[in-house]
Amino acid sequence: MVVGAGVVGLSVAVRLLERGARVEIWTADAPQATTSAVAAAVWFPYRAEPRDRVVAWSARTRAVLAELAADPSTGIRVRDGVELLRAAPVDGPWWAHAVGGVVPAAAADLPDGYAAGWVFRAPVVEMPVYLAWLTARVEALGGRLVRRRLDDLEPARAAAGTVVCCAGIGARDLVPDAAVRPVRGQIVRVTNPGVRRFLLDEAGPTYIVPRRDDCVLGGTAEEGAHDLDPDPAVAEAIIARCAALDPMVAGARVLEHRVGLRPARPAVRVERDTDGVVHCYGHGGAGVTLSWGTAEDAVRLVACDHG
Ligand SMILES: Cc1cc2nc3c(=O)[nH]c(=O)nc-3n(C[C@H](O)[C@H](O)[C@H](O)COP(=O)(O)OP(=O)(O)OC[C@H]3O[C@@H](n4cnc5c(N)ncnc54)[C@H](O)[C@@H]3O)c2cc1C
Repeated sequence: MVVGAGVVGLSVAVRLLERGARVEIWTADAPQATTSAVAAAVWFPYRAEPRDRVVAWSARTRAVLAELAADPSTGIRVRDGVELLRAAPVDGPWWAHAVGGVVPAAAADLPDGYAAGWVFRAPVVEMPVYLAWLTARVEALGGRLVRRRLDDLEPARAAAGTVVCCAGIGARDLVPDAAVRPVRGQIVRVTNPGVRRFLLDEAGPTYIVPRRDDCVLGGTAEEGAHDLDPDPAVAEAIIARCAALDPMVAGARVLEHRVGLRPARPAVRVERDTDGVVHCYGHGGAGVTLSWGTAEDAVRLVACDHG
């Protein structure tokens, strides 16, 4: 039994099913209504700890996503991009080992106001397409999605031998785990005016993520905020910040405003508790980036008691 049908729960379910387990997913929300559906989503280890485990999980996930990108129906495409830095760095990025090829940006790659940057290739995941693909994969392997909101994990434990809890921000009340805290993120989805590479400034955060037919412009990172309504003034500021990175986006047509709550935690939780529940949540701003790495570790913890 898996609780949660965001990118984390669906990835765990796929790996369990591939091992021959019978899997039911209980989820309060349809996959397209999760935080995962809001994600930009570029592979980038943002706001997730601890760094040593995050590097290993993100390296593994990058490899799997790059492989999946060979099939266009997954919605994944490997693109070039630049992480932008206001000040010249002393060292290379802490996540460089997960990528392989990270090179300093040439001055011509840098918008005004930036001193440096890292150029790298990474998977960009069009989440509505990818979540639909993952859901179809779960179903093709014999898994089943059930819409059910839980107040606690007892009904899941009573119904199945093993429970893997992938409730994202919901883990705060469900487990309960007060260490999980929302970091609110707002984005603006616009038509793609011809942008090909992603641009990220973690300090904003400000980012432009081009996808097949549109671009995701971001963003915000508001600690402890829960409000899911997009703020029009924030949206305007996001567009202005992104236009400063690439003037092409200034004229793009706005398609949609979205908000999601990143499930932040001092450390991503991938462990089995004393009741035998395997937990896999707290992925912060990197749930897509860590998804396959953490899913595979969680499935190892399930061991042989298929639930
Ligand atoms: C604006 C924004 C941009 C982002 N960009 C990126 C990016 O570029 N790259 C990246 O890697 N990450 C990005 N993220 C982070 C990423 O979206 C999250 O880390 C990821 O979605 C977490 O996935 P999850 O499956 O753990 O949680 P969710 O997607 O939130 O899924 C949780 C699931 O648990 C279910 N659930 C919760 N509570 C209960 C309950 N009580 N009973 C039953 N079911 C329950 C929910 O219904 C849902 O199905 C971004 C996030 C935001 C908000």
